[in-house]
Amino acid sequence: MDVRDSPLKLYFIPYLAAGHMIPLCDIAQFFASRAHHVTIITTPSNAQSLNQSNNFRLHTFEFPSKEVGLPDGVENLTAVTDIDESYRIFIATTLLQERIQSFVERDPPDCIIADFLYPWVHELANKLGIPRLVFNGFSLFTICAMESVKTHCIDASGPFAIPDFPHDITMNSSPPKDSREFIEPLLTTALKSDGFIINNFVELDGEEYLRHYERTTGHKAWHLGPASLARRTALEKAERGQKSVVTMQECMSWLDSKRVNSVVYISFGSICYFPDRQLYEIASAIEASGFGFIWVVPEKKGKENESAEEKEKWLPKGFEERNSEKGMVIRGWAPQLLILNHRAVGAFVTHCGWNSTVEAVSAGVPMITWPVHSDQFYNEKLITRVRGIGVEVGAEEWKLTAFFDTEKVVGRECIEKAVKRVMDGGDESLQIRRRAKEFGETARQAVQEGGSSYNNLTALIDYLKQSRNSKSQPLL
Ligand code: UDP
Repeated sequence: MDVRDSPLKLYFIPYLAAGHMIPLCDIAQFFASRAHHVTIITTPSNAQSLNQSNNFRLHTFEFPSKEVGLPDGVENLTAVTDIDESYRIFIATTLLQERIQSFVERDPPDCIIADFLYPWVHELANKLGIPRLVFNGFSLFTICAMESVKTHCIDASGPFAIPDFPHDITMNSSPPKDSREFIEPLLTTALKSDGFIINNFVELDGEEYLRHYERTTGHKAWHLGPASLARRTALEKAERGQKSVVTMQECMSWLDSKRVNSVVYISFGSICYFPDRQLYEIASAIEASGFGFIWVVPEKKGKENESAEEKEKWLPKGFEERNSEKGMVIRGWAPQLLILNHRAVGAFVTHCGWNSTVEAVSAGVPMITWPVHSDQFYNEKLITRVRGIGVEVGAEEWKLTAFFDTEKVVGRECIEKAVKRVMDGGDESLQIRRRAKEFGETARQAVQEGGSSYNNLTALIDYLKQSRNSKSQPLL
């Protein structure tokens, strides 16, 4: 083999949170499936959650549990329970920096692909003279919106239109100031990289956003997703992320017994801290809607010693008995990809975490959007206003992080109404479903040979090879 064609050596450094780690490792899998040498740099407990059948190497560093005061094995944001612990995870990643740096310097790769929460990778890649790509798990639509809010210094407590934007999008308010102050410098550092890796396909973000991004920032974005489509078999889908609290068989046979498009799937991602009174409204709404459902609630909601009194704070009395046929309540980690891809699932009530959103799109499932924090309010607009594949539940409270309680509760009437708009089989619902199915088809084509993401991956690999080969040319 011509040495210029030899496989690339790539290091991936995902952030220690399910919503960052799962998609970046699936994207790593796209590279590995083209025979490039991929190493994921992480900690032992996070390594355990990665699919062992993947053909990449894992390089682990002990998580500094003692230094940051977290129990053994608590090594990512899904495992923590409050804002203080989430901060400790962040501190732990800063403590790992030096060890990761010296490992990379001892045995440098051809490129580092790291989460944008590790801005120090920029200096490291510069020092080594290698390219660096950034990942933050956002859609490009959302990155464009954030860039616009950043450039125009928007700080609005009421509605504002995103300035200089391809579509007319009005937001109810700008993100909390602390959130912007945290994210905006990270975005600025990301702009110094060789490009963003985007877990999306360009058809969903829209070519107009790709052009807009490149024109306004001069930076490159590579759409390589949907990452979840790296998981092909049912087992690979079931094993994504944490260990599910229900078996694949249990979940699938329950869904098999339901009619096509008759079940609403309700889940708010890997970190969900709704207060009891909000869960109560959800339960009341889904029961009143009359549709079948799978509802994922936090694990602690199932704890054995939960008293009847405690339970009735979040679940109407007799709810489980009345809905034993119609519904399934999953307490803890659910096999989301399997569920979304089952034909019985007709809608997804989602917090619009980007992974959940693009997973629903890939499965052709329309959404009822209920953003909570971070990038989610922008994602909602892409899904409802721009692509017309979901309806809004009417959530307005933009929290700083998932760990803060919401103060405003979305009432059962709003939830029921939004669910019915998508599920009732009327004109609007049929149009939304048709468009969702079309996007699902486009998503699947995107990662197949000749598809947009497939071709982007080829182009990116060529770019990285050129960069490596030009570096190794002898000086004349
Ligand atoms: N997920 C899952 N089962 C669960 C909860 C979450 O498989 O019970 C997965 C989901 O499929 C997605 C990720 O965890 O890939 C959550 O990422 P997302 O961006 O949607 O939300 P976040 O958890 O980061 O808020």
